[in-house]
Parts: sequence; structure tokens; C-alpha cells
Amino acid sequence: MVEPLAPPISPLPVTTRSRVGKTLSIVAPCFNEQEVLDLFFDRIDAEMARLGVAYEVVCVNDGSRDHTLTVLLRRHQRDPRIKVINLARNFGKETALSAGLDAATGDMIVPIDCDLQDPPELIGQFLEAWEAGADVAYGVRVDRTSDGLLKRATAQGFYRAFNKLSDVDLPYNAGDYRLMDRRVVEVLKQLPERNRFMKGLFAWVGFNQVAVPYVRPERAAGTTSFRYWKLWNFALDGITSFSSVPIRIWSYVGLIAGVLACGVAGMIVVRTLLFGRDVPGYPSLMVVILMGFGLQMLAIGSLGEYVARIYQEVKNRPLYVVMDRYGFDA
Ligand code: UDP
Ligand code: MG
Repeated sequence: MVEPLAPPISPLPVTTRSRVGKTLSIVAPCFNEQEVLDLFFDRIDAEMARLGVAYEVVCVNDGSRDHTLTVLLRRHQRDPRIKVINLARNFGKETALSAGLDAATGDMIVPIDCDLQDPPELIGQFLEAWEAGADVAYGVRVDRTSDGLLKRATAQGFYRAFNKLSDVDLPYNAGDYRLMDRRVVEVLKQLPERNRFMKGLFAWVGFNQVAVPYVRPERAAGTTSFRYWKLWNFALDGITSFSSVPIRIWSYVGLIAGVLACGVAGMIVVRTLLFGRDVPGYPSLMVVILMGFGLQMLAIGSLGEYVARIYQEVKNRPLYVVMDRYGFDA
């Protein structure tokens, strides 16, 4: 066993960063959030006034089917710091977030959920971490009691599987809520993939990352749009875009099955020679056939998951379509 290295005394480089003269961009993807938006902007306003830093809020309306856009535009008219991107349809949270990151102009950028599950009061702590030299300060949920038991268990299972299978380590219970320095966002913007598993991309870029613990409250209003089927697909996106283990494992499974089959074949030959022909054997045959069939289907399915994603990438379509932009110059 090699002793793990002791953590450095001061993990962050000494810098003289200051928020003075810097601007902060808050990026909020919004999908059917009409009930909560006014409260969201009020909380942001209050917090930013306290922090004394210039800011803009880039809201991405992700094809909402309620009056989210109307509410956003009303706020934009009152306060030009609130800018709105209206996507042509619902592209999903990850893509909406990418659209917002592309449009944000600040020196620091904070992606945030607008249902107030990411408490704006944390931005102050993020900012302090940034001033202390962190390029990324990310929120980590210390208790997940606002989630049901099943959601907690599946989330835990996902993190464990992801970290086993891929080279990047996702910090447990960290979401998209974080503050990133401009240079980190510039790297993110250069990543060409269409499949935007943001948590994975955030971890992949590296830089000095610092965790800030917080308790995640329930949604202020409205309902979550992430049901289990959607979360399952989200997990598949995450794992397939950061690990090739599920597609490569099948050669080994096949190899082991082949070796086992040879062993069994040998046994049968010996037994037949010693004891004569053995008529029964239907159950064991069925078991082997069905198991082999199941494994093959699984292997083909896992190929399909990757092929489908390769297909998406090679089509090379733009990530999202912007219908209107409000409050951006030029
Ligand atoms: N969201 C989005 N597009 C979607 C689904 C969600 O922009 O297709 C936004 C939503 O408005 C919210 C954030 O993503 O600001 C998180 O969504 P939600 O609260 O439904 O997810 P949960 O917090 O339950 O994981
Ligand atoms: Mg939420």
C-alpha cells in the first residue's frame, strides 16, 4: 500500500483577486416556472445588493408552455440587467444551460436553478472562495432529506457507478450550482459535444475547485420536470459520455462464457464416455440458451447506446436554436 499524499497546507494559489470592478453573470434555465420567477428575481436582487458586485441575469426560456416568457420579459423591461434568451423549443436543461453560458459576459458565472432550490444566499460564499483563488466553487448538498428515499438511493448508486466507470470523479451530491471563473467557462464553451452532461463536463475541465456545503430546500413552487425515466436517461447520457467500460466489457463477458462453455463441454464428453448417453438435460439446456440470449441482447443494447450517441454527434447539428434575444447589445 502506498501512503496517500497529505493534502497541501494551502491548496489554493495566493492571489489578489477582488470583486471590485468585476461583473457576475447568473445563468438561469427556466422551464414552466411562472409561479416562482418573481420571487427568484427578488431574492437575487436582495443578495446581489448585499454583495456589492455588478451583475446580469441571463434567463433562458427553454420552450416553456406557460407564461414564463411573459414574466421574464416584464422583469427585463423593469431591469435591463435581466436578459432573456428565448429558445425555439424545449431543448432540455443541459442544453438551455449551455445556451446561457454561451451568452453570459461576466468575469464570473453562476448557473442556478430558478425554482429557488439553489439558495441565492450561497453566492456570497462562492464569491469569497473565488477571491481566495478558487476557479470553481461548487455547492454540495449536505443532507438530501428534501428528496425521497428512492431518489436518494438511486442518486447514490449513480455517483458510485459513474466514479467506478469513468476517469473523472464527480463530487458526490454536487449539482450545477456553482461559481466559475471566466477562464473555466471559456474551456467549457470549446467542448464540441452535443451531449451536454454538464456535471461531467464541469468535473472534466479541472482547475482549482472548492466545495461549499449547503442544505437544498424544496422547490418554492411548481413541479419538478425530472421524473425517473428522464433521470435514467440522464444517467445513461452521463455514463456513456464519460466511460467506454459498458461497451468494452462484452469481450470479457464473452471470453469468460466461452471458457466456461469449454469446461462444460469437456465434462459432458467425459460423462458420456463413462456413463453412457444421458437423455434428460432439457432444463440445463434452456437455462444456458436463455442466459446466452439475454447476455447477447444486453451486449447489443449497450452497443446501441453508443452508436446512437455517435450518430447524434456526427450529425453536427447546432446545440440549440435561439428564437429571440432580449437585452443583449448587437
Ligand atoms: N429546466 C429546463 N428545461 C427542462 C427542464 C428543467 O430549463 O427541460 C430547468 C428548470 O426550470 C429549473 C432547472 O432546470 O430551473 C431544474 O429543473 P427541476 O427543478 O425540474 O429539476 P430538479 O430540481 O427536480 O432536479
Ligand atoms: Mg428543482
